[in-house]
Amino acid sequence: MKPDTAQRVDFAALAEPQFLPAVPSANPPTWLGVMGGGQLGRMFAQAAQQMGYQVVVLEPAADCPAGQVAQRLINAGYTDGPALDELVAQCAAVTTEFENVPADSLARLAQQIFVAPNAAGVSVAQDRIAEKTFFVGCAEKSGVLPAPHKVIATQADIDAIGDELLPGILKTVRMGYDGKGQVRVASREDVRAAFESMGGVTCLLEKMLPLAYEISVLTARGVDGQSVVYPIAENVHRDGILFTTTVPGPNVTAECAKKAQDAATAIVAELGYVGVLCIEFFVLTDGSLVVNEMAPRPHNSGHYTMDACVTSQFAQQVRAMARLPLGDCRQHSPAVMLNILGDVWFEGDTYREPSWDKVVALPGANLHLYGKDDPRPGRKMGHVTFVGHTLDDARRQFEAACAILGIAP
Ligand code: ATP
Ligand code: MG
Repeated sequence: MKPDTAQRVDFAALAEPQFLPAVPSANPPTWLGVMGGGQLGRMFAQAAQQMGYQVVVLEPAADCPAGQVAQRLINAGYTDGPALDELVAQCAAVTTEFENVPADSLARLAQQIFVAPNAAGVSVAQDRIAEKTFFVGCAEKSGVLPAPHKVIATQADIDAIGDELLPGILKTVRMGYDGKGQVRVASREDVRAAFESMGGVTCLLEKMLPLAYEISVLTARGVDGQSVVYPIAENVHRDGILFTTTVPGPNVTAECAKKAQDAATAIVAELGYVGVLCIEFFVLTDGSLVVNEMAPRPHNSGHYTMDACVTSQFAQQVRAMARLPLGDCRQHSPAVMLNILGDVWFEGDTYREPSWDKVVALPGANLHLYGKDDPRPGRKMGHVTFVGHTLDDARRQFEAACAILGIAP
């Protein structure tokens, strides 16, 4: 199968304004819709409700984190025609909480109501080839490049791998998240085995880069083309899943921060994007910056904004989709965000309730649980954000929480 994905996205059209700035704002208590019922949809709904909006969620699963809090849950698939029509009939605007929402559904909704982000922006982030092609295409404006890479769709592509791409990481082009759909490879033979193990779907081989640390930049852009950028978040992953986000990042230099923020501003503008966009970057051991991938929605690494910034990433998404002025991204407290995975409900094989009473007793601790009732190892169940007068204060409480929860800090 030849990859045609890179051609499918019309980059020129992406830069076109999606709606005239004259489109009036959608004011509370009107309805806002969200595609997807996970924790991001839940926190979006809570932010929207705080501002007086009503929220309807479209999600096939009956019991879902967003459905528990939204005023209305439409239990149907993301491509269900009558369900999409119901969203159109009820909502002033629709957003998505996950990047793998069928882009065609967003396009269909956008024929009748305001959709942010739109199908084109989401499509780029759904497909690693389109995403890398886009990053390369706007490198002159953004000042950053992605990792050297090559599309692997056939055995001939594997034969043609140059030594400079090895060792590398083979990633499926679509549906990868939390390190799923990725295999580390040292040789062409490894690539062949990994390609086969993933069922021969189109992949991207990326050169393994020497990472010093990882950062993400949360940005939001309104219909009027104005954009805002949050402070740089420094991220630590464990087993492919985000473990902590620390802001300000202890390793982030002022020069790196400026470069990453400028890159994010250029990327979101080049996409003609409306809404919250999170861009992940690698900082290499030589200090250089490499753009990795982007998420067309609020992001796990932006959860700290709920407790440490003037406007949370979810409130920002509400503002963008409702065509209200964007909010202040200023951070008022240093913060460490700790992801809570299902692992903390288990000691060995024994189930135990985590000691939330002890965790919330820690100064500056803000507990967020997502209403999921079946903890499993590796499943995101919630997060705790520790804020302090100084980053050291926040870090100390984070370490204390790790001790309480049985997590290695
Ligand atoms: P996410 O949960 O962020 O959606 P993902 O599964 O889409 O993750 P990536 O973000 O591309 O995958 O990669 C996951 C992690 O693997 C990165 O955060 C980084 O630690 C490591 N990684 C990915 N690509 C490279 C690379 N080219 N060189 C070195 N490390 C890499
Ligand atoms: Mg990633």
